[in-house]
Amino acid sequence: MKIQQVEAIPLRIPFTVGGRSDAGAWGGKDLKTVDSLLLKVTTDSGLVGWGESFGFTVVPVVKAAIDNVIAPLCLGRDPLLIEKLMREVQRTLHIFGRSGAIMFGLSALDIALWDIAGKAAGQPVHRLLGGSDAAELSCYASLIRYTDPELVAENANRALGLGYTRLKLHEIDPACVRAAREAAGEEVEITLDVNCQWSVRDALDMADRLREYNLRWLEEPVWPPENLDGLARMRREGGISIAAGENASTLMDFAHMLQAGAVDFIQPSPAKMGGITELRKVFALANAHNATVMVHAFYDGPGLVAGVHASAALGGANAVVEWRFFDLEAQLYGDAIVPKGGVMTVPQGPGLGIEPSADVILDYRLH
Ligand SMILES: [Mg+2]
Repeated sequence: MKIQQVEAIPLRIPFTVGGRSDAGAWGGKDLKTVDSLLLKVTTDSGLVGWGESFGFTVVPVVKAAIDNVIAPLCLGRDPLLIEKLMREVQRTLHIFGRSGAIMFGLSALDIALWDIAGKAAGQPVHRLLGGSDAAELSCYASLIRYTDPELVAENANRALGLGYTRLKLHEIDPACVRAAREAAGEEVEITLDVNCQWSVRDALDMADRLREYNLRWLEEPVWPPENLDGLARMRREGGISIAAGENASTLMDFAHMLQAGAVDFIQPSPAKMGGITELRKVFALANAHNATVMVHAFYDGPGLVAGVHASAALGGANAVVEWRFFDLEAQLYGDAIVPKGGVMTVPQGPGLGIEPSADVILDYRLH
């Protein structure tokens, strides 16, 4: 089998979030559409694999990297030699950066190759990773930033009404965290992601104000994301468990993060950090460092599904899936992976187990 075509497919899908959103790491205020980037690998045997890169405003850059740099390296290669192919393209491109657009594109490629490997073997990807008897996984509703305590409470209640028992907030004002805790009661697990908002000193001061809300974790409290000493100090002195990792890339970054004692929860993002090939190594490494993997998945295509397979096979009883709490006008997989009662069905078909809708791609493709 040989790779015949590698195609980057940008999508733009309108969405709502139960009120006006504030600006955040993903884009400006009151975002109306979400941009994502699919990668389609076609082989000469007729098998097709789907991957996904991280999206939003970086989509045009990653598309250019795939079209001009990554795709030409892949044509004619055996898609089943995933480890070899990924090692070689990573080596070939390393001088252009070990994260960012090149690595996002390679991540999408890797996910598509695992989809093909599963289809060729007639097995779901989770079985190629060691297998899982988990038919479903618990999800947390990952809310956008509102910066309005009333809207936070309203949307926390909306998520709880749909059966979620775990929430993530992207707020930076303790009043919004209080609103969520008061709306949710004491039993609901709440995490807070501030996307690298503070200096270490400011983050420690904020931790003093946030501790009473019993957060399961505080995510990326300090700037910049690679400030591992700062994260480690937060973890030692802040009194709240620390999560980070969505901006780390490839195995070595995660090794450094774990060696620094920077995190309780480590968050590899398969559509950014190297795909399933790197992700499975991070699971092993995290186990050896007594850290819990919480796969980052602020997206809803093959990147998310890749994380679901890895979490099912490698995450054990701790596995929880991030579900972006967006009401999209169209879902790439219909309702196949939309959580019901706060749980997501683990796809059981060959490869990633479900296929993107051709109609959704036709209707929402950006040209
Ligand atoms: Mg985050």
